[in-house]
Amino acid sequence: MSDTVRVRFAPSPTGHLHIGGARTALFNRLYARHFGGVFVLRIEDTDRSRSTDEYIDAIIEGMTWLGLDWDEGPFRQMDRFDIYRSYVDRLIREGKAYYCYCSAEELEARRQKAMAEGKTPAYDGRCRNLTEPVPGITPAVRFRMPQIGQTVVDDLIRGKVVFDNSQLDDLIILRSDGTPTYNLTVVVDDVDMRITHVIRGDDHLNNTPKQIQLYNAFGYEVPGFAHLPMILGSDKTRLSKRHGATSVMAYRDMGYLPDALLNYLVRLGWSYGDQEVFTMEELTRYFSFDNVGKAAAVFNPEKLLWLNQQYIMAMTPEALTGMVVPFLVKENILAEGQSLDMAWLARAVKTLQERAKTLVELAKSLRYYIVEDIEFDPRAKDKFLNEKGLPLLEDLNTELAAQADFTHEGLERVFKAIVEKHGVKLGALAQPVRVAMTGGTESPGIFEVLGVLGKDKTLKRLNKAIAAIDQKG
Ligand code: GLU
Repeated sequence: MSDTVRVRFAPSPTGHLHIGGARTALFNRLYARHFGGVFVLRIEDTDRSRSTDEYIDAIIEGMTWLGLDWDEGPFRQMDRFDIYRSYVDRLIREGKAYYCYCSAEELEARRQKAMAEGKTPAYDGRCRNLTEPVPGITPAVRFRMPQIGQTVVDDLIRGKVVFDNSQLDDLIILRSDGTPTYNLTVVVDDVDMRITHVIRGDDHLNNTPKQIQLYNAFGYEVPGFAHLPMILGSDKTRLSKRHGATSVMAYRDMGYLPDALLNYLVRLGWSYGDQEVFTMEELTRYFSFDNVGKAAAVFNPEKLLWLNQQYIMAMTPEALTGMVVPFLVKENILAEGQSLDMAWLARAVKTLQERAKTLVELAKSLRYYIVEDIEFDPRAKDKFLNEKGLPLLEDLNTELAAQADFTHEGLERVFKAIVEKHGVKLGALAQPVRVAMTGGTESPGIFEVLGVLGKDKTLKRLNKAIAAIDQKG
């Protein structure tokens, strides 16, 4: 085996990239990067009834969005049938595999019978020692599994896991329709692609002794194995749609940042002291299977949301602005193709990024900055746009019309002079202005809001608020 670490992510394109798959891909990639190795993407699409090209695209889209780039591939198993066939032929030639003429119906009937008798269904080996072909039947090919002894999986996470060979069936490696089966293709590919470490979910642990026997039969060195702990939902059952979104792209659409999701995924099973927030560079440096636990990991959406907020807060307003634009379009705040001064938008984003947990929240909170005309929240309007506030708003309107300086300091001076003149607290002016500018009672500091809105929009909205009070009166 070469010294270079070579790992692979081998999804079956029978669905979107989900949380569990993304974590497997991430751990593989981190392991490769940590050792300066190679990360291979292999699409396991031999199940023609369930694999689709759309899902291949969806998986690639998910990985690309997460920034999980690979070094080789994507290889498709569909393109490699001749290779599998030659490996099967070799096992047959060497007497390590044999033709099986049992039909699917016969096998099913025997399975049912065994179950009814309370036995574990297993292939009974009846074609093992056939010397002559059965005419008129296209056979499947079975691997001759050792019947005695044990197979030890030396797992990087779980340590030694021992399987009795008597429990391992003579597995079908080539179906009668000529298609190879998973355990065969995975071993052939891992050999052919010179994979040094197989990192995958522990739902595959039971397949590993069978695969080790295939390595032995071919005479190839067995790679390292690391079976990642399961991911559970809050009720401790296997994570599924019942627990909410499980597809990676759904998290993109809900306004999660790829880095926040990656950061969350890595903590599903792996830890590094108490640290929660990691850069990719830190992850690459620290990653090792020594810090991956055996226990199942529980998916916690609140923690993911918290992490997302940490990432949103830490980003530069400029970078965040680029990411929020598609969400502004989706929320109908911005028309498709409508141009916007990005430097200005970044100023608006800066006033709100401390408060938003997702890009969707951020986009929604930007609405009053961007739209021409705002709506007043009825309760806020009743409470703050009334006779009491009217003289204050009118004074402000007059003062700001003559004011060129819309900086925090410039605006503060104007506000202070007005509240002093009327003998009221700042809030008596600031709240009506807030409703006038944003439609509601919650917003960043009022001077920041006016600063971003600028003089024209501010005066227009003040006038609209004054007119609304007049109408009421
Ligand atoms: N194609 C398998 C799956 O999606 C993965 C096989 C493997 O990693 O060995 O579950």
